[in-house]
Amino acid sequence: MKYTIILYICTLMNKSDIKEIKVLFATPQNVVIVPHKNPDGDAIGASLAMYHYLKKKGHHPTVVSPNDYPNFLKWLPGSKDALKFDMQNRQSKKAIEEASVIFILDFNALNRVGDDMQNTLQEFKGIFMMIDHHQQPEDFAKYLFSDTSICSTCQMVYHYLEKLDDVEVIDKDIATCIYTGIMTDTGSFRFPSTTSETHRIVADLIDKGADNAKIYNNVYDTNSYGSLQLLGKALTNLVVIPELKTAYIVLSQAELDEFDFQKGDTEGIVNYGLSVEDVIFAAIFIEDVEQKIIKISFRSKGSFSVNKFARKHFNGGGHDNAAGGKSLLSLEDTITKFLNIIPKFKKELLTSYEE
Ligand code: 5GP
Ligand code: MN
Repeated sequence: MKYTIILYICTLMNKSDIKEIKVLFATPQNVVIVPHKNPDGDAIGASLAMYHYLKKKGHHPTVVSPNDYPNFLKWLPGSKDALKFDMQNRQSKKAIEEASVIFILDFNALNRVGDDMQNTLQEFKGIFMMIDHHQQPEDFAKYLFSDTSICSTCQMVYHYLEKLDDVEVIDKDIATCIYTGIMTDTGSFRFPSTTSETHRIVADLIDKGADNAKIYNNVYDTNSYGSLQLLGKALTNLVVIPELKTAYIVLSQAELDEFDFQKGDTEGIVNYGLSVEDVIFAAIFIEDVEQKIIKISFRSKGSFSVNKFARKHFNGGGHDNAAGGKSLLSLEDTITKFLNIIPKFKKELLTSYEE
């Protein structure tokens, strides 16, 4: 039996922080809520949950997403009220200028919102509150609620409401948003970060009105024909390197175009690599000609930290078992770089995970 030591770092708000936050929100505040760029279900779920909660408490919240997000998240209650910083720039900047508080949700480094929005946020003189579960948070938030052991920012939003004695404020809309983020960030409750506490929270969310079957359907059973064809192409392109317990997928811009790629269509495809028997490290490389980058997702099982791997070699980061990054090289050169690096990790890859 092999034991894996994972170090969880947790910065909880202390009692005096909570007291101060209660005093702050005792009077109506203009609040801006920011998820990371290319937000996923957890980032949007947490942002919209916070939006509904703050509205219910008499505040004036605005969700300002750095950019657009996939259609499978647009059904979420409140989605139509969210601003996109890149497309609704003037309105977004105005909301940020008028805010007294900005929530930073599901990310912990300001460069995760993209250059233009980062510049605007850096000028903000009010209070930053960060709720996040990624490693190594930057030190710019007055109130920092960070716990890398928790499966999702949405679960942390639930804990935040617990700390403020406001769990009873959670209604169907808030429950729906929180449930969605927990479901998507846990791979539908199957990743190791899913605990008995997660299940207890999810049970409470269902009691409060979250319709679990409908939420699953809205997120996962709304594929377009093109997105399924693209998945087929990705699976055809899957390469397995058994001696390194590694699998990877490459999708070129031409292939994305062939199958009418829409935002979100490639989400989750990397997990197919990890589902191959004995594979413990999976990657997907997606060419983005417009942004002139190769967007990369990494996933692992066990002690091999893709967070460290992505930080060191591919300008990225994330969690130990799920991280992302990017490359400014060509698609071909990026793959060559990857294939040159991974043999150096042979020992770690072969000992990362035992059945
Ligand atoms: P995904 O592969 O699904 O895009 O991201 C996996 C995890 O890594 C998510 O928690 C995401 O927030 C994080 N992540 C993705 N790309 C980056 C990146 O470029 N930098 C950092 N620091 N984290 C990333
Ligand atoms: Mn998350």
